[in-house]
Amino acid sequence: MTVPGSAPERRSFAVDKVLPGIDLRPFIGGEHVEPRTGETLDVTDPGTGQRIAVLPAVVETDVREAVGAARTAFDEGPWPRMSPVERASHLHRLADLIERDLDELALVESLDTGKLFRGVRGWDIGNAAETFRYYAEWAVRTSGDVLPSVGAVRVTTQREPIGVCAAIIPWNFPFACVSWKAAPALAAGCTVVIKPPERAPLSVQALAALIAEAGFPPGVVNIVSGLGDTAGLALVSDPRIDKISFTGSTETARTITRASASSIPRITTELGGKGANIVFADADLDAALDGAVEASFGLAGQNCCAAGRILVQQDIYDEFLTRLVGRAERRVLGDQFDDGTEQGPQIDRAHLARIDGMVRESLASGARAETGGRAGDDGGLHYLPTLLTGVGRADRISREEVFGPVACVYPFRDAAEAVEIANDSEYGLSASLWTKDAGTADKLVDELRVGTVWLNCFGYFMPYIPWGGTKLSGNGRELGREGIDEYLVTKAVYRAP
Ligand code: NAD
Repeated sequence: MTVPGSAPERRSFAVDKVLPGIDLRPFIGGEHVEPRTGETLDVTDPGTGQRIAVLPAVVETDVREAVGAARTAFDEGPWPRMSPVERASHLHRLADLIERDLDELALVESLDTGKLFRGVRGWDIGNAAETFRYYAEWAVRTSGDVLPSVGAVRVTTQREPIGVCAAIIPWNFPFACVSWKAAPALAAGCTVVIKPPERAPLSVQALAALIAEAGFPPGVVNIVSGLGDTAGLALVSDPRIDKISFTGSTETARTITRASASSIPRITTELGGKGANIVFADADLDAALDGAVEASFGLAGQNCCAAGRILVQQDIYDEFLTRLVGRAERRVLGDQFDDGTEQGPQIDRAHLARIDGMVRESLASGARAETGGRAGDDGGLHYLPTLLTGVGRADRISREEVFGPVACVYPFRDAAEAVEIANDSEYGLSASLWTKDAGTADKLVDELRVGTVWLNCFGYFMPYIPWGGTKLSGNGRELGREGIDEYLVTKAVYRAP
């Protein structure tokens, strides 16, 4: 497929040519089925605010059916019993199909989320294909151990798939995030029920056709789009679910944990953050400025690893802030399909209002907007890149995730104070750190209570590198060897002679 060159042509192509090809009905037991009620979900394009699709929304009965299909596929179907080589070849086939349809999938994901088309085409969709390939390799490597015998009794362990998994997906990385959950689950021999995000379900719906084309047995992958507090809740509270993998907000993670408590499934959670971007006076300042802009304003700030806090050593504070303001003000806001755009729209009007509300509250309590501090002038869903100073560390905006292009800037004296400020957060997802001094870098790497540190860089993600948080940013890990461990249980076997 040749992707059209201009933003309006891309949008029309996505709406008129790609969208009609996606079956929006639930995918249960290997086929698209009619949902039980007439409930629907409106899907809008954040770039125009216009409705682009109306999806049948599943309710509890449909979810129960999907879990039943996944349960049967696990308990009786070929998938967990299949040779791992064969499972791996299904994953490779799926990766091939994702790569074949990369442009269409990127058009849909960009249309639905408002994320930059060139970013989604350059990273998200390809990352999903790579993740399926990476875990295809793990399907054949999940071995147990031979342990010391107990007298004449020989002891081994074997690793088995945990069972039926619920995968709950957020709207900021729908397609990639599905692969981070489904790829290790499938490689391990599990079956899955995927709940796409209601604000951006389209690319995950499009995956259903590829699952069918890749030849996965019926019920191994099921996709049910619906609201969180109905469809999502029905899924996580179903006692037939063995494991829940959730990516989303900390508050929803609490609800899910309570709702599933009676059956005690294994739960892994990838949650929000309040990342720190820490700049020392000896840093390469141009690189640190690029990093700070990307960390705080990339993806319009709708990024779990966004740096909502920029810490700058006091010797360079004024210079760095002035230059950062200049970069923020030069940033090109625009249509997500335009290759010249650096920052696209927020996901929807309600979210834009939430961002603005948090900024206004901080300004009212004495913070100063060095730049930004309001929505863009075009009446659309853009929020200006915003840098706040004079923010108290106890203020809400210092502590809660804004999930928009808003960063608070704080001065610090030395490494000890940088660590103290950075760790003063209920979250602990990631941090980036800019210094040329190896001793300073080592101290911070060791002392920051986060799941990932980027040193003199920001935002790398690879399928073989584990990702996850500490504290309220979640538990467990996705990607890497740790990612598949979450979908396996170990059985100990004692063999008396
Ligand atoms: P959200 O918590 O509102 O929703 C996430 C998913 O949970 C959606 O599919 C939603 O329908 C579902 N859901 C909502 N209520 C539910 C319930 N009661 N039971 C079951 N499911 C329910 O989060 P969001 O707004 O979609 O995503 C943004 C959040 O996700 C941010 O906090 C962001 O930091 C976080 N996130 C984290 C990572 C990570 O890797 N740590 C990655 C992406 C996003």
